[in-house]
Amino acid sequence: MSSIGTDNPWPSRFDRSLMRTMGMPLRCLVRGEGAYVWDDEGREYLDFLAGIAVNSLGHAHPVFVEAVSRQAGTLAHVSNYFSTPPQLELAERLTRITGAGDGGRAYFCNSGAEANEAAFKLARLNTSPTRTKILALTNSFHGRTMGALALTGKPAMREPFEPMPGGVHHIDSTIEALEAAIDDTVAALFVEPIKGEAGVLDLPAGFLTRARELTEEHGVLLVLDEIQTGVGRTGAWFAYQNAGIVPDAVTVAKGMAGGFPIGSLVTFGWASDLFQRGMHGSTFGGNPLATATANAVLGEIERAGLIENARLRGEQLRTVLREIDTSLIAEVRGQGLLVGVGLTEPVATRIADAALEHGLIINAPNDSSLRIAPPLIIGDDEVREFGNRVRAAFAAVS
Ligand SMILES: *Cc1c(COP(=O)(O)O)cnc(C)c1O
Repeated sequence: MSSIGTDNPWPSRFDRSLMRTMGMPLRCLVRGEGAYVWDDEGREYLDFLAGIAVNSLGHAHPVFVEAVSRQAGTLAHVSNYFSTPPQLELAERLTRITGAGDGGRAYFCNSGAEANEAAFKLARLNTSPTRTKILALTNSFHGRTMGALALTGKPAMREPFEPMPGGVHHIDSTIEALEAAIDDTVAALFVEPIKGEAGVLDLPAGFLTRARELTEEHGVLLVLDEIQTGVGRTGAWFAYQNAGIVPDAVTVAKGMAGGFPIGSLVTFGWASDLFQRGMHGSTFGGNPLATATANAVLGEIERAGLIENARLRGEQLRTVLREIDTSLIAEVRGQGLLVGVGLTEPVATRIADAALEHGLIINAPNDSSLRIAPPLIIGDDEVREFGNRVRAAFAAVS
C-alpha cells in the first residue's frame, strides 16, 4: 500500500482524506458502552457530551441495538410511495409527546438542519395577509445548510456563503426586542429555547410566554428549534413544556433516535394545513429503519422514566459543579441534562482538554463556556465519577 495505508496513524489519514471542514479530532474512538467510550489505544472516557446530545440511551444500549438489528432484518427502506408501521407509529407518538395532538402532523427527514429547512419553507407559506419577514435570534444556531444557516444568528458562519435566502432578520433575545419586531409583516419567529451552541444560554424569564402571546396576536408562526433541547433532555419532553406554552411548529433531531440519523418537523393546528401535496420531500425521510429506531428510543425514555432522571441527575450534576473549589466558575446554566458552565476566564478549551486527559468528555462551545450533555441513562455513580474527573480538570487549569 501507499503512504495512505491503514497502518499509518489515524491523524495523518484524517489529515489527508477528510474534508477540511473540522479541525483535527481529539481522539479516534472505537467502542462504547453505557456512558463510557474507548479510544484506539484502549483508554476509557466518561462521555458527558453524548455525541452533542444525541446518544440519549448512551452507547450500545440493548434497546437501540435490538431495534436497529430487527428492523434492518425486516424492512429497512421503501420509498414515500409506501407507508410502514414504524412510520405511522412515530408520527402518532410525536404528535402525542409534543402536545400537538389531533390536528398535529409530522414530516420526517434525516437531520436537524433539514428539519429547519422544512420549517423555513413552512414559514414561506404563511403569506396571509402579506408577510415578508422571518425573525430569528442573534447568537442562535439552526444548522449549516443554506436556509438553516440564514436563520443562524452568527454572522461569521454565514458571511463566506452569502447571499443567504432572503427575508431573515435577527433580533436580540429580549422581550423588548420581541415587542418591537413582531407585527403583521412577520411570517415566523424561530426560537432556540436554550442556545446550545452559544454555550447553553437560557432565554430571559417570560420570553417564551411573551413570544407566544405576540405571535398568536399577529398570526406569526412560532417555530421552536428543539433539536438540542428536545426528547427529554431538559426534564420535559420539550423545553417549551417547561415554560407552559404550545408552539405552532417544533423541529426535532439529535437525541430522537439515539444516534441513528433522523429529523422531524411537527406542526400544530393551522400550521398543519400549510404544506400541500408535492411541496416538500426526502428520499430517506421517515424510512422504517430510522423510525423504528426512534420509536424504540423514545419508548425506552418513557418506560425507564428517563425524563424524570434528566431532572434528578441534572440537579445532582449542578450541585457537583457548584461545589467545585474554584474561582473559574461564574454561573451554571441550562435545564435538566443540558448544562452550561459560564467561566470567569477564557479557559474553556484548556479545561475541556484537561478533562479529556482525565478520562472525561465535555465540550467548550466557546472560550468562556463549557457544555455538559450526558446520556439520559446516567445514574448516581456516573455523576459522582464526573465530579472526580471534572474537579481534576479544574485543578489542572487553576
Ligand atoms: C445541532 C443543531 C442543529 C443542526 O442539526 P444537524 O443535525 O447538525 O443538521 C440545529 N439546531 C440546533 C439547536 C442544534 O443544536
